[in-house]
Amino acid sequence: MDKLEKAMARMVDAYNRQGVCKVCGGRLKFQGCGEYVCEGCGDITYDDYGKVRSYVETHMNASVDDTAEATGVSRESIRMMIRERKIRMGGL
Ligand SMILES: [Zn+2]
Repeated sequence: MDKLEKAMARMVDAYNRQGVCKVCGGRLKFQGCGEYVCEGCGDITYDDYGKVRSYVETHMNASVDDTAEATGVSRESIRMMIRERKIRMGGL
């Protein structure tokens, strides 16, 4: 692992990082931006950050409440991501 990968790995640990494929039990490979791909079946999974990120990308004006409801990620986690500028939301 290089320096950047290590920093990314530390970052995603806080957001329910995924480890094992729900479909086939295979190992998940971190692809960046909260996204994981299974080495066994190719299924794509997101951690909390990945879920929030892909939701706000397609719902530019979503509020924290909307995003929490749609993704199942806690408001506290979403606010933390906004504070750390990992995601950007309309009006914030
Ligand atoms: Zn799999």
